[in-house]
Amino acid sequence: MEREIHLDPTFKMARQQFDTVADMLEIHDGERDQLILPKRAISISIPIHREDGSITVFQGYRVQHHLALGPTKGGTRFTPSLTLGESAALAVWMSWKCALASLPYGGAKGGVAVDPRSLTSVELQRISRRYMLEMIPFVGPQTDIMGPDLGTNEQIMAWFMDAYSSHSGKSVAEIVTGKPAALGGCAGRREATGRGVTFLVERAFSHMQINPQGRTAIVQGFGNVGSVTACGLAYRTGMKIIGISDQAVAIYNPKGIDVAMADRYAAEHNKSLAGFSGGEVIDPEELLTLPCDVLIPAAIERVITASNAGKLQCRILAEAANGPTTPEADAILDQRREEIFIIPDILCNVGGVVVSYFEWVQDMQNFLWTNTEVVDRLCRILESAFSAVVRRAKERGISHRNSALSIGIERVQAAKRLRGLFP
Ligand code: GLU
Repeated sequence: MEREIHLDPTFKMARQQFDTVADMLEIHDGERDQLILPKRAISISIPIHREDGSITVFQGYRVQHHLALGPTKGGTRFTPSLTLGESAALAVWMSWKCALASLPYGGAKGGVAVDPRSLTSVELQRISRRYMLEMIPFVGPQTDIMGPDLGTNEQIMAWFMDAYSSHSGKSVAEIVTGKPAALGGCAGRREATGRGVTFLVERAFSHMQINPQGRTAIVQGFGNVGSVTACGLAYRTGMKIIGISDQAVAIYNPKGIDVAMADRYAAEHNKSLAGFSGGEVIDPEELLTLPCDVLIPAAIERVITASNAGKLQCRILAEAANGPTTPEADAILDQRREEIFIIPDILCNVGGVVVSYFEWVQDMQNFLWTNTEVVDRLCRILESAFSAVVRRAKERGISHRNSALSIGIERVQAAKRLRGLFP
């Protein structure tokens, strides 16, 4: 297991980011492993009956990073390339992210190595239920709470909740967040991450004293986060979305893409933009380096690399995805600090887990907040995290990423020091 985690390129990246900040914070070697290595890493086999009568065994994972601040929290993704090491990296990032927003959680992440679009809906339900059944000994509303991530949605969260509840003999809504509203889901959870990205992009513009109206944005990734962000920036902020992409295709239109139409198109075409006629089809790699005011990677890890970081032509890089920028790219972007304002991932996409936290709190207390209450509370947390990150970066002359990471890491370190070796 140790090798599987340490050799994974995404985990190496999380470790490298951590070591940079640990050097800055003068964290001694003996404490480093204790801070970064996951508390628990679970790897499971998930056999399911296919509709054609055959049996397939899928691989599933869950990594729980630390328990120093409360239970662990984090998404469950269904993507073909998922590994234990990638889950560990994502769990570590969840920890720094939750601590940055002062949420009482450690980080977790996991999921199944599968392309959900290759399954029938019956098979998807079988995988979802079986995954949760295998995880029952390791999760719980006070131990580890799952939420949505790439390739999962409200329906899958409902199956998770039902599988756990059937085993408990009572409804346990607080075992998972991102559920449908009818099952105790929180108002605005589906839109929360994209809404947070939109808020923070507007906040970055106001910080730079630039009016966002009519400015341009390119969004890589058109899943839940990318599409909600694109619509928010177009219809709320008044920006022009000139590029969008997904796994299948990249589309460019300097006059502005009708993103509501793109959203409807993807919903009607198996979540794919392939064949959408709202612009010219271009090379997905080229999309990232076209001139724009805001570039938003909203898909997967490690897309801004040493080979394209020097060519970015944006004013703001808003990292809606987890880990989109490699440390090598970061070193290049650090030289361009005056040109490009980075909203680092653990700040930029924190809105999702913040509203998940609201959902967990409401479920435990049988409470129902209105959408206005949710958005208002979310914006207050985002505002204070944004100000803290920008303030520390300025005071210490460090990048926004190192500022955000150092705030999160320091809070976890403080809790661990107060408690001792267990969590
Ligand atoms: N997938 C979300 C993230 O990466 C969080 C999931 C949750 O709400 O637990 O931040």
